[in-house]
Amino acid sequence: MATPTPAQARELAARADQLAAAIEVLRGELRAGEDALHRTGYRLDDAASWVRQVAKDLQATASDMARLAALPAGACAVPWGVCPEHGNTLFSSGGVTACKSAGCRRAWGYNRDNTPCAEPATHRLTDADGVEALICDGHAIDARNRLIGGRIEPL
Ligand SMILES: [Zn+2]
Ligand SMILES: [Zn+2]
Repeated sequence: MATPTPAQARELAARADQLAAAIEVLRGELRAGEDALHRTGYRLDDAASWVRQVAKDLQATASDMARLAALPAGACAVPWGVCPEHGNTLFSSGGVTACKSAGCRRAWGYNRDNTPCAEPATHRLTDADGVEALICDGHAIDARNRLIGGRIEPL
C-alpha cells in the first residue's frame, strides 16, 4: 500500500468545503421558498457548520502529515514534541502550543505535543532492555526524569 500523502487529506478537505457550500446554497433556496418549505431547512445551519469543521480537521491532518514528511535527517526519534530547553512542559489548546516553564516564552502554532519531535538528536538513550534511540536535548531532560535502569549519553 502506498504511503498516504498530505494531498489526499487536502483533497478530502476540499470536498468537505464544497459540500458545506452546497448545503448553504440549498439552505438559501429553502429560505426563499414558501413557509412550509422554509421550515424544512432548519437543520442545515448546523449541518453546514459541522461539515466546515470536518474540512478544518482534514486541513489540520494534512498539516501534521506534511510536518512528519518534512522531518530533517538526524531528527529525534520520539513521536511527540517537547520544549527544546525544558522538556515535557508543553500545553496545547486550540491548535497552539506553549511551554509552561516559568520564563519560557516559546510557543508554536500547531499541536507540538502531538507531533513527531523534529529537534536534532543529541543523546543516545538506552533503556533497561538495551533498546537504543537517538533523542534531542528536551527529550533527554524528560528521559532523565523518568528513566529507570537505562542510560543517557551525549552523542
Ligand atoms: Zn520551555
Ligand atoms: Zn525530541
